[in-house]
Order: sequence, then structure tokens, then C-alpha cells
Amino acid sequence: MSLAPHVVATITTAAAVATPWQAVIVGAGPAGSATAIALAREGWRVLLVDRCGMPRPKVCGCCLSMRARAELQSLFPQRTGPGIFGEAPLDHVRVVAAGRSLRLPLPAGGVLSREILDTRLVQEAIAAGASWLPGIDVTVVAEPGAAPQPLTATFRLVHAASESFNVKAGCVVIAAGLVDHVRVPGGGSTRRVRPRSRVGIGGTLPAAAVGLTPGELVMAVGRSGYCGLVRLEDGRVDVAAALDRRALAAGGSPAVAIGAVLDEAAAARHGISIPAPLLATAGLRATPALSHTAPLVGGATRRVFRVGDAAAYVEPFTGEGMGWALSSGRLLAAALLGADDPATAYERSHAACFDAVHGRCRRIAAVLRHPRLVGSAIRAATAVPWAARRLVPLVVGAAGTGASR
Ligand SMILES: Cc1cc2nc3c(=O)[nH]c(=O)nc-3n(C[C@H](O)[C@H](O)[C@H](O)COP(=O)(O)OP(=O)(O)OC[C@H]3O[C@@H](n4cnc5c(N)ncnc54)[C@H](O)[C@@H]3O)c2cc1C
Repeated sequence: MSLAPHVVATITTAAAVATPWQAVIVGAGPAGSATAIALAREGWRVLLVDRCGMPRPKVCGCCLSMRARAELQSLFPQRTGPGIFGEAPLDHVRVVAAGRSLRLPLPAGGVLSREILDTRLVQEAIAAGASWLPGIDVTVVAEPGAAPQPLTATFRLVHAASESFNVKAGCVVIAAGLVDHVRVPGGGSTRRVRPRSRVGIGGTLPAAAVGLTPGELVMAVGRSGYCGLVRLEDGRVDVAAALDRRALAAGGSPAVAIGAVLDEAAAARHGISIPAPLLATAGLRATPALSHTAPLVGGATRRVFRVGDAAAYVEPFTGEGMGWALSSGRLLAAALLGADDPATAYERSHAACFDAVHGRCRRIAAVLRHPRLVGSAIRAATAVPWAARRLVPLVVGAAGTGASR
């Protein structure tokens, strides 16, 4: 188990109510923490809240893409060395489909458990001057009056659900991930889920459960979804899958559904075999629908913003979500700090940064619905290695992030 220290609250609920915040940030994943760090460093009064304490588990493949690592490096330029937060190196991905397997290099990849990454980012937000309040479920963001009157965010105590109170802020950043249920009256809550969107399932297995080489990500592709397996920095094996809902229901349990994907890909032929009873011990959790979009800007005075998965997400095959989350936090902070009209500036920079990238990932998601096609592509790429190398940027994304300032 990762040894991430528990991060204690730095403010009481009474003090949170009494403070006129410039920004309240809902959710302390990479998107929320990146926004909090950037704003707090510029002297903003920032309150970062999460319904969970840190560390907490998160369904995720835990692979840091080139974009994620570049964003982290730009956020912490003083940290040098191979890993910003002690991530393990990740050098290649082995895609297994229809009994075939293809090894692709992963330039500048890394692996880090979400317990460590998210905890470290919250600690950095606190160090930058943000206040931290865990155990808070934000339910509604309301606008009692026109700007510059503050917004109010309704906070419910997770461990005493009947107790709630209102906190005032100049703007609210919803960084609540895929589970975002924050209501924004006056427009700005409607999520559009893509038809046939898959759901995420993930957990971890003990180090000895699977014979996985460190530095290798295995992606097994089947008709009803795909599953990634990778060794974390502490030796545990991270399991993360995207599955069709129908297959999940038909399988009877997430472990059986993941086992079916591994069987169909014939992963055992390539040395990857995990019996369903062992998978069932992985503490598997599920996410809501994966591929969706939601309004980037909400509220009548356009002072409620979404970042990270709460704003938009496309299935995780290419392992880019954390990088996107960090980038969107950076873009929003830049708009809030520098633009006359932050809402419009954020909408523009978000579209410029993500429209093409999300389109590429949607096309990959469509191809993955046809594992035989993936198997044929693997056969072709094995026969023509230079063609396989050309697949790499498609699978892992381009190097450029715009993160360097
Ligand atoms: C199966 C799977 C595999 C993946 N693999 C990878 C990978 O290998 N690499 C990669 O880069 N990305 C991967 N991703 C994507 C990645 O996990 C997400 O894109 C990333 O976590 C998004 O960060 P975020 O900050 O937007 O949201 P999150 O990390 O989800 O954080 C949201 C936070 O908000 C809190 N919250 C939610 N609602 C409220 C509320 N109302 N009030 C208070 N707090 C709230 C939650 O507790 C949570 O801590 C994967 C995703 C899935 C599902």
C-alpha cells in the first residue's frame, strides 16, 4: 500500500463560512489542485474542498502521459530528476487483442498511484497558500445577486449529511470529476453523455498477483471493453478497465466482466492471467459514464467554471485524462488571472487545447469497438515495424502541451 500521509484540514468550517473567498474549488483531483496552486501562488484567497480526505482511491490507469509530466514539470520547475513525485518509469505498452500482441514505446511515460499523486498536489496547494477542507460535499452553487455580489456554494458535511452551510466566493470552480452532481441554477448543469459510453472499473492487486514487468503497461482489448494492467511505484498492480454497461450487467460482476475481456484478448497466451476470484479481491470500483461533455462556464453571471473530467472526458485508452485535467486547470487559472472576460477566454483556450485531441481519442474509441480490426492492425504493424512506430503519437498523444510558460 502506498504510504501517502493523511492531509489534515487547514481551516475550520466556521472560518470557511466567515471568509470572502476569491475562488472555491470543488474537488481535489489533478484539475482542482492545479487550479488551486496557480491561483494561490498569485495571492488569491482559495478554498479547496473535497468530499473525500487525502489520500483516497480513484479508478485510474495511473499512467502519466507526456502531457501530464510536462504539466507537472511546469507547475514545479524547481523539482528536477526523473520523477517529480517519485513516479516509476513506464517505457512501453503491450496491446493485446484477438490473440495478437504489439509492443509500442511510450516516450517519457511514468506511473504513479493516485494516492500519492493527488495527496502531493493537495500538499502543494496548501504550501502555495490555499486552504484545504476535506469531508465536504458541495451540492449547489447559487447567485443571490448580480456581480460583484458573491456566489454561494452550499456545503454538506459528508459525515453529518443533515448539516449544511453556505460559503461565499467570487467564482466557483467545479473540478468534481465524472461524478459531478453540483447543481448550478440558471443554466450550467446539463451533462451530455455520448451514446454507448462505457463505464470505468478499477482497483489494485497485490504485487505477486500478476507477473507484470515493471515499466510495462498491458492493454487487453475485447469486444465489450478493454483493461489496462501496470505495476505501480510500490509494486502493486493497478487494474483499470472501460467496459460496456450491458456486458457488465450480463457478466454478473465487474471481476467476471474484466476476466472476459482478458480471455477474449487471449492475454494468457502472452503471460497475463488473472482468475476472476483474484480480480474480485482488487477492491473494484465503478465510475459513471466515461465519455461526456458539460458546460465549461455556468451561472447567469458566468462565474462558475468546470475543469478536468467534470468539463469533458473521452474514454481512457490513451491514458491522457490526468494531463488534460492539469492543462485545463492551468488554462482556467490563466484566464482568471489575466483576462478581462475570463469566461470567454477560458472557453476559447479550452477549445484550442482540447477539440482536436478529444476528436482523436473518440476515433480511437470507435476503432476499439472492433477488436478483430485491432488484431489485424497489430498483425500489419508487426510485419511493418516502421508503420508501428507511426502509431505511437496516435496512441500516446503529441508531445506539445503549451505547458511551458
Ligand atoms: C478506467 C480509467 C483509466 C484511466 N487511466 C488513466 C491513465 O492511465 N492516465 C491518465 O492520465 N488518466 C487516466 N484516466 C483518467 C483520469 O483518472 C482522470 O481524467 C483524472 O482523474 C481527472 O482528474 P479530475 O481532477 O478532473 O477529477 P478526479 O480525479 O476524478 O477528482 C475529482 C475529485 O472531486 C471530488 N468530488 C466530486 N464531487 C464532489 C462534490 N460534490 N463536492 C466535493 N468534492 C467532490 C472527488 O472526491 C474527487 O476527489 C483513467 C480513467 C479511468 C476511468
